[in-house]
Amino acid sequence: MIPAQFDYQAPTTIDEAVSLLGAHPDEAKILAGGHSLIPAMKLRLAQPGLLVDLGRIKDLAYIREQGEQILIGAMTTHYQIESSAALKQGCPLLPECASHIGDVQVRNKGTIGGSLAHSDPAGDWPAAIVALGAEMVAVGPTGDRVIKADDFFVDLLSTALQPGEILREIRIRKTNGRFGHAYQKVPHPASGFAVVGVAVNLSLANDGLCKSSSIGITGVASKAYRAASVESALNGKQLDEQTIRAAAVHASDGVDANSDLYASEEYRRHLAQVHTRRAIQIAASRAR
Ligand SMILES: Cc1cc2nc3c(=O)[nH]c(=O)nc-3n(C[C@H](O)[C@H](O)[C@H](O)COP(=O)(O)OP(=O)(O)OC[C@H]3O[C@@H](n4cnc5c(N)ncnc54)[C@H](O)[C@@H]3O)c2cc1C
Repeated sequence: MIPAQFDYQAPTTIDEAVSLLGAHPDEAKILAGGHSLIPAMKLRLAQPGLLVDLGRIKDLAYIREQGEQILIGAMTTHYQIESSAALKQGCPLLPECASHIGDVQVRNKGTIGGSLAHSDPAGDWPAAIVALGAEMVAVGPTGDRVIKADDFFVDLLSTALQPGEILREIRIRKTNGRFGHAYQKVPHPASGFAVVGVAVNLSLANDGLCKSSSIGITGVASKAYRAASVESALNGKQLDEQTIRAAAVHASDGVDANSDLYASEEYRRHLAQVHTRRAIQIAASRAR
């Protein structure tokens, strides 16, 4: 459980961090909270020759309102999001999701950027980020580029970030009006990670019908996904018990579900349906 030898650099600006990554393309790895990377290094699943620690870059940890958006720096910790008044007001799905991550120590050290860049199939953030249709801002040698949440998660532990790019910021649209949200999770009893996690963000029209719905599911497949069939079964409908039940049945349509020692494919699909139904019920009741 001792990592292989590595060098360590702690730049104080993003430009410096980008230069370091560019100068060491094959051996450098970004260090954020270290909660996934350090264990992987101890198990020698990862053996970077250089760690570029983002922890001293001051302008990477923030939550700012800008017009109709809330901007979140990649080094913002789960706890900072959980306790943010701006997010509780403008996008309460994120603080609710944060409160489900690990324990207090984990939430104080782990970062939203590290979690998204790691793309753990059982991570909580990807479900919420997909449900919110967030934008990811990556910075690299050629400057910034924006990646939509639907395009960001590519596969197991794999994202649309290019080598040498740093995830710098996450942009969320504020929710207002008759919006309802919910995050429902079955935590793994040992790790706390999501066996299944369902994030729902929906809005109601003046007549009470579902105007829009957006549902992100984690834990079920190799990456978080939008439950498009559930969404289309809700949109334009009265969100009564029968409609919600019928929609939730489609929670894992079209995805290859994972199977492991704790949860078989069949059990995961069942959990996805049950928790999708519950999350929609809660979100709908909050929107009314
Ligand atoms: C005991 C324990 C319990 C946990 N429980 C949960 C849980 O219930 N739910 C959950 O979702 N998570 C859980 N986690 C994960 C944790 O919350 C972190 O989110 C996660 O480990 C990654 O974040 P980090 O900041 O530690 O990233 P690191 O471990 O530092 O980095 C992870 C990976 O992302 C890369 N990276 C980091 N930041 C960036 C960036 N800005 N740009 C590009 N690449 C980057 C790194 O190079 C590395 O490959 C748990 C962790 C532990 C140790």
